[in-house]
Amino acid sequence: MSQHFSIAVLGGDGIGPEVVAEGIKVLRAVEAALPGVRFDLMEHSVGAGEFLRSGDPLPEATLGRIRESDAILLGAMGLPDVRRPNGVELTPQIDLREKLDLYNGVRPIRLYHASHSPLHGYGTVGSGRRIDFVIVRENCEGLFSGRLAPRPSGRDFETDTMRITRRGAERICRAAFRLAEKRRRKCTLVDKANVLPSMAFFRTVFDSVAREFPAVATEHVYIDAMALFLVQRPDSFDVMVTENMFGDILSDLGAGIVGGMGMAPSADLGEKHGVFQPAHGTAPALAGKGIANPIATILSVAMMLEWFGHPETVRGANLIERAVERVLADPAHRTADLGGNVSTAQMGDLVRANLDPRP
Ligand code: ATP
Repeated sequence: MSQHFSIAVLGGDGIGPEVVAEGIKVLRAVEAALPGVRFDLMEHSVGAGEFLRSGDPLPEATLGRIRESDAILLGAMGLPDVRRPNGVELTPQIDLREKLDLYNGVRPIRLYHASHSPLHGYGTVGSGRRIDFVIVRENCEGLFSGRLAPRPSGRDFETDTMRITRRGAERICRAAFRLAEKRRRKCTLVDKANVLPSMAFFRTVFDSVAREFPAVATEHVYIDAMALFLVQRPDSFDVMVTENMFGDILSDLGAGIVGGMGMAPSADLGEKHGVFQPAHGTAPALAGKGIANPIATILSVAMMLEWFGHPETVRGANLIERAVERVLADPAHRTADLGGNVSTAQMGDLVRANLDPRP
């Protein structure tokens, strides 16, 4: 008998539904090659569109159903013109992370073809100097922690708090070290310990967790230096761990050196739940044109299959990874963001056609 996995599908706004459709196209094709597993998909309306309909971008009833699923596949949510009465943008994806305690933001940065990078001298998958590292972002505290706290009005100042707890720092550092153990065994802490006491504390926790993982080499890099090093020598990193806001910024910088937001998948993981989504937003200017790059979403589907941890889903994740490598090895296979004219749906078709189930 097949094992069933239930997946909540949240297309969201803007290009979200378009890229998710390609992710599902590839997921269904992979499912056909895996006799022992089945995927039960359930779609839910969330985001700015849902806010306009019901007044809540992430209704409680929907959240309840999402909690019951084995995983969540998300496109993107929010539109710049749709704001709360106080003018603040909707942030349902941040709310979702906090409500489901998805503390572990995993953002792989991988260069698939030398021509995708604005940097010179980096090789395509399997050759030369490689860009292949993972940013592990703490998702539930750090500089985002006080964002929803009530504020007195009419003051001449505002503050945001960088909150680092021992529990929060320990669990994110452990997640980063465990990942590094499965990769090239190097873990870099990105902080600002020379200036901020919260970051000095993060460093002491990182150093004590590091002692649990003697096989993993460690280093500390200040956030400002990391901005420099990601341009000068991104091939020298394997896994890097950092607080919420720094991770947010480094994720976009990382995406920028491998072809842009359309190339950056992500997983937001907790002990029970996992949300898999492209690192990009809703890109309203591209919506409805059929030109968005679906690779980030397709790779997020692969991360979901890997996370399920069933031998067949892990194989499925591998099939998708290899298919993406094969498709992108041909520089003619590019969507508009990479200077080509392959459409969103054509890119999904190409990946599907390159899934090769032979061992
Ligand atoms: P958010 O604040 O919701 O994360 P953002 O302001 O960071 O969103 P994005 O929507 O991620 O913005 O878009 C950033 C840039 O990347 C835009 O130029 C957009 O057109 C481009 N972009 C994002 N996703 C894709 C994609 N899948 N394919 C092609 N271009 C994309």
